[in-house]
Amino acid sequence: MITSKTLLKIRQNWISEVSNQLAPAEQLRQYLLEQLTKFFDLLGQAIDLRDPDILDPILSDWVKTRTETELENPEGSLMPVLSQIQIITFEAVMRNLDQIESAEIILALLPIFTHTMEFASTEETRLHVHHITGELEKTRTILEKLEKSKSDFISVAAHELKTPLTLIEGYVSMLRDTLPDDTTRKNLADIYLKGVNAGTRRLREIVDDMIDVSMIDNNLLSLNFQPLWLNHLLESIQRELEETIQQRNMSLCIKRFPGSDEMIFADGERLFQALRNVIMNGIKYTPDGGQVSIDGRILPGFIEITVSDTGIGIDPEDHSRIFEKFGRLGNVSLHSSGKTKFKGGGPGLGLPITKGIIDAHGGAIWVESSGYDEHKYPGSTFHIMLPLRKTPPDDKTAKLFKSLIESN
Ligand code: ADP
Repeated sequence: MITSKTLLKIRQNWISEVSNQLAPAEQLRQYLLEQLTKFFDLLGQAIDLRDPDILDPILSDWVKTRTETELENPEGSLMPVLSQIQIITFEAVMRNLDQIESAEIILALLPIFTHTMEFASTEETRLHVHHITGELEKTRTILEKLEKSKSDFISVAAHELKTPLTLIEGYVSMLRDTLPDDTTRKNLADIYLKGVNAGTRRLREIVDDMIDVSMIDNNLLSLNFQPLWLNHLLESIQRELEETIQQRNMSLCIKRFPGSDEMIFADGERLFQALRNVIMNGIKYTPDGGQVSIDGRILPGFIEITVSDTGIGIDPEDHSRIFEKFGRLGNVSLHSSGKTKFKGGGPGLGLPITKGIIDAHGGAIWVESSGYDEHKYPGSTFHIMLPLRKTPPDDKTAKLFKSLIESN
């Protein structure tokens, strides 16, 4: 039976040849000599014990000593080194031993080298995965910090803006009450005050949106479930937007769809806000003369509402981005400044709030559009899935509902 004694005959030769080929630089060779001697002796032990696992610790060390930069570089793999060692070993065996010994020792070494490659390759993959997971974790932490500071900024800015805004609103109202009796000057001052009022109203809407976004971010949005009918809700939105629709020469078509006239439990105020945002966007991103239509259907456990427009459309790669905070698309400086005008983009908080409200109801929202095109106007369709709640979702609402029915 072949033993390490046969292998020992090529020891000196093997060590100098492998070290010369693997490390042409003198300094490196010194370090390598130690490691190679150890590896060679372990090869011998593996032959004697018929156990290639004995090489695992040294292979593990070799894989581990490789730096992170080497890990990112596929050329830094240990595989070519091990296969070079194998070739040099077999050549040295054939050069220095007779034919029978050569054949026997190569037969004994083959499974050992196969094992070293398999083991080193598994170790490398494990380290790679470990390294990549670590990198992903670092990126995730950075993104989380960024998201947190964005959210903190919104919350602080909203609250800081709210106080001076309330002051301005109060003084404008006092000013109006103390206008001089002289009609010409009063009329003029009235016009100016209306301008200030319009500005503060818009600012109030933005501050309110910022507060809503920060509530959603911090899971503080609480819903007030009440019985409601979607067709009534949609009619109220239509009434509110009537003037804008007329100004833009557009049409808003609300179809009667299955489920729209059924009583469901939802937060009416928040749902109004969510649906108005989507319908308002349909108006904003559709040119004058276009159409926004609302339809829907009942699905098992849900009501699906669709809001379609004949507007500029949205590129598929932006379909999820628009639901993120400040997810405005295109060149923001080219957005029209009017809130209801064509492309009158806002701060990009409407859809994140809408999504937050729908999510809080246990529903889902997504958009379908073949792409953005300001010449062909492919349009967009927003889908809103709302749980079909026929009973109050909690005890508090149930009690309130019961007392309401009883008092009627
Ligand atoms: P904004 O206040 O800018 O309207 P939203 O959060 O409501 O913010 O919408 C985010 C972005 O999504 C918009 O700036 C716009 O680019 C795009 N968008 C939303 N709705 C539509 C639509 N119906 N058609 C085309 N683009 C839309």
